[in-house]
Amino acid sequence: MDTTDPEIYFDELGNCNHCNQLEHEKKTILRKLQNQTALKNLITEISNSNLNGKYNCVVGISGGTDSCFVLHSAVKLGLKPLAVHVDNGWNSEVAVSNIEKIIKKLDVDLHTEVLDWAQFKNLQRAFLRSGTKDCEVPTDHLIRASLVAVAKKYGIKYSLNGRNYSTEGIMPVSWSYGAIDWKYIKSVNKIIDGSRLDKLNGMNLFSQITSVFQGMKSISLLIYIDFDKEKSMELLSEKYGWQAYTGKHYESLYTKWYQGYYLFKKFGVDKRKAHLSVLICNGNMSRERALAELKTLPYDIKTEQIENDYIKTKLEMRQSEVDELMQAENKTYVDYPNNSLFLNGAKNKLVLDTLVILRQLKILPSGFADRAIAQHAAKKQDG
Ligand SMILES: [Zn+2]
Repeated sequence: MDTTDPEIYFDELGNCNHCNQLEHEKKTILRKLQNQTALKNLITEISNSNLNGKYNCVVGISGGTDSCFVLHSAVKLGLKPLAVHVDNGWNSEVAVSNIEKIIKKLDVDLHTEVLDWAQFKNLQRAFLRSGTKDCEVPTDHLIRASLVAVAKKYGIKYSLNGRNYSTEGIMPVSWSYGAIDWKYIKSVNKIIDGSRLDKLNGMNLFSQITSVFQGMKSISLLIYIDFDKEKSMELLSEKYGWQAYTGKHYESLYTKWYQGYYLFKKFGVDKRKAHLSVLICNGNMSRERALAELKTLPYDIKTEQIENDYIKTKLEMRQSEVDELMQAENKTYVDYPNNSLFLNGAKNKLVLDTLVILRQLKILPSGFADRAIAQHAAKKQDG
């Protein structure tokens, strides 16, 4: 990682806080979770829940490696998952076909939540016009909210997510904010667009806290099972005819455009840096190869115009407006009303200390705010 993260700092050995943080998290979390007992206990715990229901966990599925592998693993471990897919209108054909293949072969039920396109389109456009980097936040939030809503409907307490340390674990806080902040999402829409969002089921702070106290748990299953991305991709394609995408998380055309083009062109943020840094830390890539890869553009100049036209047309924007947006002043979430004082725990010592205590008392489930707590612990160690 480099200074395109304005909050980066380096230790006396020249290692950055992200690499040190990743090492620290892996040491503390992996040691605790990657043994047969931890996995066995987890499976027993989930299997003993919702005994009268047809399912005991929900798995959010996008069609990408991580979520497909979670679903595959859940079935192999004897769990009874309900797959949930949130369709925000931007799915690529590969993503849809991957989901269909794996669901069919595993004989798992699929619940598809289709977001109201008219309202979601306005919301997405409002975020582009907001001048912030947070244009994927509406999707991230509505996926989380849908998973909780579906789980509640079926009496399910466990939601399995695809978070892992094989290819993830480094992401500067300043590169995106708001996935859990519905107040922020609503304010951006209200100030920029003024349209209604009543057909989109966001989750406010109160219902998020309630769901935690109702025992809803989000579990990073892949952290328990020593997930290896490359091997998992091979397994998925052999077993299910699953197809890989190019680039990370490019299952959606909007994500591809936003990460590869918009973030890079407007903010100088290259998300590949975070991804490649994890591969280097894990010993899966040399620094030299990563640096060489970063010399190439994150988007394809051959398809640049076609993709831009597609995005613009679908969001009903004029070319002149898109050009203006690219030039407009960059903003952040602090320019809009939000709940960051409470949610941005990494910057609020009181909130963090409270989270740590709630975790120790086992009032908060594992997985909830673990990252913020780990960051807090690492900073404490630094002095
Ligand atoms: Zn580093």
